[in-house]
Amino acid sequence: MRMKTFFIPTQREEPQDAEIISHKLMLKAGLVRKMAAGIYSFLPLGLISIKKVENIVREEMNSIGALELLFPAILPKELWEETGRWYAYGEEIFRLKDRREREFCLGPTHEEAVVDLARSEIHSYKELPKTFYQIQTKYRDEIRPRFGLIRGREFIMKDAYSFHATEEELEKTYADVFNAYVRIFRRCGLTAIPIEADSGTIGGKISHEFVVKSRFGGESEFVICPQCGYAANTEVAKSADEPLKIDEDEKTLERVKTFDAKTIEEVSNFLNIRASKLVKSLLYKVDGNFVLVIVKGDDVLNEVKLRNLLSSGEIAPAGEEEVIRIMGAGFGAIGPVNTDVEIIMDKKVERMKNFVTGANENGYHYLNVNIGRDFKPAIIEDIRKVKDKDPCPHCGTPLEIYDGIEVGHTFKLGTKYSQKMNALFEDRDGKQKYYIMGCYGIGVGRTLQSIIEEHNDDFGIKWPFSIAPFHVEILPLNSSDEDIERCANSIYKKLLEHYVEVLLDDRDDISAGVKFNDADLIGIPLQVIIGNKYKSKGIVEVKSRETGQRVEINADQVIEFLRNYIEKELEKINK
Ligand code: ATP
Ligand code: MG
Repeated sequence: MRMKTFFIPTQREEPQDAEIISHKLMLKAGLVRKMAAGIYSFLPLGLISIKKVENIVREEMNSIGALELLFPAILPKELWEETGRWYAYGEEIFRLKDRREREFCLGPTHEEAVVDLARSEIHSYKELPKTFYQIQTKYRDEIRPRFGLIRGREFIMKDAYSFHATEEELEKTYADVFNAYVRIFRRCGLTAIPIEADSGTIGGKISHEFVVKSRFGGESEFVICPQCGYAANTEVAKSADEPLKIDEDEKTLERVKTFDAKTIEEVSNFLNIRASKLVKSLLYKVDGNFVLVIVKGDDVLNEVKLRNLLSSGEIAPAGEEEVIRIMGAGFGAIGPVNTDVEIIMDKKVERMKNFVTGANENGYHYLNVNIGRDFKPAIIEDIRKVKDKDPCPHCGTPLEIYDGIEVGHTFKLGTKYSQKMNALFEDRDGKQKYYIMGCYGIGVGRTLQSIIEEHNDDFGIKWPFSIAPFHVEILPLNSSDEDIERCANSIYKKLLEHYVEVLLDDRDDISAGVKFNDADLIGIPLQVIIGNKYKSKGIVEVKSRETGQRVEINADQVIEFLRNYIEKELEKINK
């Protein structure tokens, strides 16, 4: 491609509304432009790269026997009513009506569409398993669209759905997709880590997220064990229960006045007792009933674990009025002693003796509370949030916590959707059964931007070879010089003859400095610099954008050199 006829509107100024480096660079390098909040246009350079991500995804999905198809983005309300998600999905769905007042949505995901296809076209176990996938634009009216393509309202996703007659078949496909994802992200030059995750509203019990570490926080949080590799989203992450420390004798229960002290910090300061000797009590409403949840004073309740433990979709902390009505005291004064409310206790509390809790009377706490003697929990489980440096549940090594961006997600759905939509096949035994399903997503745009987030420096993008819009950029430093121009054109033509993806900066009224800056900004991995040394010695320079290293090469040998270089780099990344 010749720069003069191409279109790369680079920008020198810092984009105003871009908070993170990858978003800034996408705008500055002329890859995308914003149309509205969370809605972007891909310009030619950005489009080449996103197609490369898509092709890697396509190759790897095809390699495990998944079948590409394409559903419409516009989906009828009736399908979404069958699963109840027309209402459950809430304001995140973009809804529209046709001229006859029929209702539709712009698909935020396609479980309904694919189950509808399977129930009308697949009838027997003999046609199973089947995995379908598409690479398509999704629409979600996110509350806070931000960070460019990371959280958009219109975004490209690869979504895949598998149908099975047996759990074993699902296990196999799930493992195949998981391994394909590992290859996809590696080939994209992205360090994505598979972690155990919660299934959220999509459904199912088991799921994995592929996350990349982020420097800007905010999106999702995960833990890693640096020793054994255990990795999980903090929503579900576990830590080892600390060793038994019950060598104290049980002391007499004591009721003490604590006046206005309510929070763990206030009570701990007032009584001059460490927070780890206090127990926090929280009243929760679960499907209309109340439960008292207790965790150690220096721990935090994990609501996702609590919800999963109670297998309930609806849990919420009780309001102060409810707390007073049920417990007889307000926030900060409640506790597990003298109450009929069912108690759910975190496992770490089991290791405590003679601890402090609220006394269910405003202004009072109990000292020397003990399990068994003073109250009996109905359930003892791990319901706390893992903290930085908590011991790994497998090997005890201190865990590390990171902020992450989720680039992919795999779920074992089971029969959730096939039951709701009455999607059946005839099994071996002649009986009608619900399909067992899996579903698997990759955020294609989010992946592209994460690649830039991982590969950049102060001067711009440093594309990995697999995703770079071009592999070589030729920089004739003085295009008004005939020799230099001739050399640049000849290298350009020869590279094209060898199918090398090459960009020629043939702009003639542009200074060398600007050409260098633009080249570093758009981040093509190899720059061929043709300047005075070519005039005097017939030598050109090849610069690696990744390492900054320069090699001088005779212009006659540069084609061979570049072809070998590119081939090796692509081999490295694809192996
Ligand atoms: P998140 O928790 O980030 O909202 P999600 O759980 O809603 O993600 P899925 O429904 O599993 O996401 O979608 C599959 C993939 O699509 C995600 O792993 C992510 O990479 C991508 N994705 C989801 N929402 C967005 C968005 N608003 N913008 C860009 N990519 C997205
Ligand atoms: Mg979401």
